[in-house]
Amino acid sequence: MKGGGEPTVRVGIMEGRREVRGYLEGSFTLGGSTWRETGFVAAATPDGGVRLSSPGGLTAAGRDRLRLQGSPGSLFCLEDVTIGISFHWERRRRQTYAGDLVLEGTPEGRLRVINEIPLETYLESVVASEMREKAPKEFLKAHAVASRSWLLALLRRREGCDLGAGDDGRRETGDEIVRWYGREDHEGYDVCADDHCQRYQGVGHVTGEGAAAAVRETRGLVLLHGGEVCDARYHKACGGITEDFANVWEPRHVPYLTSVSDGEADFPPRRGEEEARAWILADPPAFCRLRDQALLGEILPDYDRETADFFRWRVVYDRRRLEGIIEEKSGLSFGRLRDLVPLERGPSGRIIRLRIEGSERTVVVGKELEIRRWLSESHLLSSAFVVAREGGKGAPDRFVLYGAGWGHGVGMCQVGAAAMAVRGYTCEAILRHYFPGATPAVIYP
Ligand SMILES: [Zn+2]
Ligand SMILES: [Zn+2]
Repeated sequence: MKGGGEPTVRVGIMEGRREVRGYLEGSFTLGGSTWRETGFVAAATPDGGVRLSSPGGLTAAGRDRLRLQGSPGSLFCLEDVTIGISFHWERRRRQTYAGDLVLEGTPEGRLRVINEIPLETYLESVVASEMREKAPKEFLKAHAVASRSWLLALLRRREGCDLGAGDDGRRETGDEIVRWYGREDHEGYDVCADDHCQRYQGVGHVTGEGAAAAVRETRGLVLLHGGEVCDARYHKACGGITEDFANVWEPRHVPYLTSVSDGEADFPPRRGEEEARAWILADPPAFCRLRDQALLGEILPDYDRETADFFRWRVVYDRRRLEGIIEEKSGLSFGRLRDLVPLERGPSGRIIRLRIEGSERTVVVGKELEIRRWLSESHLLSSAFVVAREGGKGAPDRFVLYGAGWGHGVGMCQVGAAAMAVRGYTCEAILRHYFPGATPAVIYP
């Protein structure tokens, strides 16, 4: 963060398209002169360049990029933006953005569409994309601080070229495949616009005052730990206990991302298979045990509400279907699927290593996201589950997974945080609860 002021964020909106359509509202300049048409079509050229044209006959070409620079208040719309990439709610929508539109050509002759935008404006959209603006104010403020901290920690790491923290990782030995997915794997921009980084759906849906006010009232406010900005992670619902960082990503102790009990009662960390099993099959009064549909409607975006019960859930698989899914996702054939055996769990009950037993092979898979990926056509809600086998001899007819929570479980539990705000907890109390030992501080005016 050069100069110590508000940074600009480069957000990757689309990648790999040959052509992108959209239109402009307000004033934009290109190479210093005003671009006078509303509609535009951007296309990649085979040599890695970019060509922009409009229905009125305006054209521009860039050897590797073009920048349409927005003025204060001007907006641009893009057609067919994919949101929820590879999650169960994936869809395409028209999206509206503020800031600059940067079009880059890639050596493969495809387009990379980037939105450059001041960090605080970006945050308004993130908060409004992740949650509903009607959500309780103290919760939206806590979310703004967590999202800002996460992003600034990432920008600082990129500036220092310290790409070690948060990298992808893998450990493959014999019949064990353990993978985790970092977040700094974007070439050419800081963050993508999807759940992989933070949900950013432009400014078109920032309609109420909720998100904007929450961001304005916390401007420049971040969480610090040991003098560093916290890499403040968050997820949808922990299931009653949050998870340790090292059980989801690289094996490193992060003091402010350690497991906490998510309720007024103290739920101790689960130790061993029996405790985890009892916990997942129980229905404890955690903050994120929220089934009040009216209240959920004020917190979660509509597409998240398509997931009916995420605190405790159940998935039933016909054995053959599950064999097909695992083969497709893992690239390995297991033959007749005999059992799924948890070998190691974290304090929230999330499985870190799972043994998949088939007639042709047996493989141990981890960590949590890889397990969720292998056991679902999109992603299993979480890796905190117990397995029941029904019918059949040797290999069962059906597998039933009873699960808890939604997401990786590390850091702030979004539903739990919102429920805390409803019960009267302040932004600061919410942050203290989910990020133990972190302290809030304003780092730019
Ligand atoms: Zn990303
Ligand atoms: Zn929770």
